[in-house]
Amino acid sequence: MGGPAKATEDHSGRFRVIGHEMLQKSRPEEIVDLLVGAFRTVLGAPRAEVFFFDDTGGKLDPAIPDSDPDLFPDPAVIEFVFEESLPPTVPHEKGHLLTVYPLTLHHQRIGVLSVDVTGVAESIGSLGPDTIDPLLEQATIALFHTRVVTRSRDESLLLRNILESITNGILAIDLEDRIQRLNGNSMTMLGVQPSCIGRTFPDVLDPKMASTVRELIAETREAGFAMERVISHRVGEGVSLPLAISTSLMRNIEQEPIGIILILRDMTASRELDRLRKIDELKSEFVANVSHELRTPLTSIKSYTEALLDLADEEMVREFLGVIDEESDHLLDLINDLLDVGQIESGRMNMNFDLHHPGEILEEILPIPPLQSPLHTILPEIAGDISKMLLDKGKWKKILINLLSNAIKYSPKGGIIHVRMKVEKDQLRLEVTDPGMGISPEHLEKIFQSFYRVDSSLTTEISGTGLGLVIVKAIVEQHGGTIRVESEPGKGTTFLVLVPIHNSPEDLPPGDEPRPFF
Ligand code: ADP
Repeated sequence: MGGPAKATEDHSGRFRVIGHEMLQKSRPEEIVDLLVGAFRTVLGAPRAEVFFFDDTGGKLDPAIPDSDPDLFPDPAVIEFVFEESLPPTVPHEKGHLLTVYPLTLHHQRIGVLSVDVTGVAESIGSLGPDTIDPLLEQATIALFHTRVVTRSRDESLLLRNILESITNGILAIDLEDRIQRLNGNSMTMLGVQPSCIGRTFPDVLDPKMASTVRELIAETREAGFAMERVISHRVGEGVSLPLAISTSLMRNIEQEPIGIILILRDMTASRELDRLRKIDELKSEFVANVSHELRTPLTSIKSYTEALLDLADEEMVREFLGVIDEESDHLLDLINDLLDVGQIESGRMNMNFDLHHPGEILEEILPIPPLQSPLHTILPEIAGDISKMLLDKGKWKKILINLLSNAIKYSPKGGIIHVRMKVEKDQLRLEVTDPGMGISPEHLEKIFQSFYRVDSSLTTEISGTGLGLVIVKAIVEQHGGTIRVESEPGKGTTFLVLVPIHNSPEDLPPGDEPRPFF
C-alpha cells in the first residue's frame, strides 16, 4: 500500500523541478510545453493542451497555433471548472476521457489545461490536489508573468516608437537630476549620446543649457505647472539653433511629482516665417515709399520734356526728346501701378462708391490717348436696361482702361474691339473682346499674378508692367465681383467681369482682408 504514496512523492518532486524550470522561461510556449510534458511523460496522459482566454478573460481561444482542437472542452465544462474550482473528468469525443484543470490567478481566468486521461484517469485521480495544484499554480504564475512582461514590452516599444516619431526633442529627468529617457531628436539637439541615460544632466549638457534647464526645473517645481523659454543653443561646433524648451511635471499614480519632462522645439522654421513676413512688410513699405519718391521728379522731368518738345525745332532734338517723353510715360505707368498695388496690398485701397452709369464712364474714357489707335475700333454695346449703380468711378475707369489698352496692345494687327455691357441676374456683365494674339492655356491662370508677362516672340515688342491685371482683379473684387478670361491663341481674347448691382451702400460687400500680391 506504500506504492501510491511513494508515487505521489516521486511525482511531487518531479513536478517541483518542472515548476521551477517554468519560472525561468520567458515565452508562454515553453511553459505550456513543460506543463503538457509533465502530464504526458510523468503521468502518462496520451495528450494534453492549454487553451487561453482572450485579453478580456471573456472567451477561451481555440485558435492557438498547432493546438489539438480535439481537446477543446465543451463550454458547459469550462463554466463548471471555474464555478466549482474542481477539475471534472468527462467523456469526450470518440470514447476519450478528458480532465479539465482551471488556470487562475488572483481570480483572473488565464486559461484551462485540458488532459486526455483515457487509460490513466484512475492513477491521475488518485494523486490528489496536493500533487497537481502546485504545478498548475506555478504554470499559471509563469504564464501570467510572461504575459505581463510581453504587454509591458509592447507598451514600451509603442512608447519608444511614439517618442522617436515626434519631431520635437523629449527628455525625462528624475528628481535626482538624472536623465531617465530621451528620444533621438533631443540627442541631436543637445549633442549627446544614448550613454547619457542614468547620468545627471549637469554632467552631460553644456553649461549654458544645463543652467537653463536647472532654472526651468526649479520654476516648474515651484509653480507646479508648465514653463517655456526660448534660447539660442549651439549644437556642437555647428550652427546656433533657436530652441524653445517647455517643461511639465512627471507624476506617479498617486499624483506625486517624480521628475520633469522637457520638450525641445527647434524654432528655426517659425523664426524664418517671422523673418520672411517682416521682409515682406518692409518690401511693401519700400516699394510704396520709393514709388512715391520717384513719381515727383519724374513728373517734372516729363513736363519739362513736353515743354522742350513744343519749343524744339531741330529734327534730332525732337526725336531724342520724344524718346525721353515715351520712356518717362512708361516709368510713370510702372510707378502708378506700383503705388496702386502697394495700396491694395496694405489694405489701404479706399473705395469711393457713388451711383454711376457704367456705360457713361466708358464714354468718358474712350477719347484718352492710350485708347487712340488708327488700327483699332472700339465698339461699345451697352444694353438699354443698364442704369446707375454703386461704382467707384476712378477705379472703374482703371478697369476699362487696362482691359481696353491691353486689347489694343495685344492685337498688333488691329481690328474691332467689342466692349459689351448687359445686366445678367442682378449682375453687371462686362465683356472686352479683342481679335488679337490670344493667350495659350498654360499662361491663362498666371496672367493675374504680379509681374507676370507672357514671354513670346509676339510680345517682346510690347511694353507693360505685368501689374495691370493684378490691379483690375483687385478692383473688381473690391466691387464684390469676379473676373475671368477666355482665349484662343491666334484668334483673340475675352475678359469677362461680373459685378453685383447695388444701389444702396448697405448692400455693398464688407471689405476683405488685404492679400499679399508679390
Ligand atoms: P502688362 O502691363 O504686361 O500688359 P497685364 O497685367 O495687364 O500686364 O497683363 C499681364 C499679361 O497678360 C500681359 O503681359 C500679356 O502677356 C497678357 N495679356 C493681357 N491682356 C491680354 C490680351 N488682351 N491679349 C493677350 N494677352 C494679354
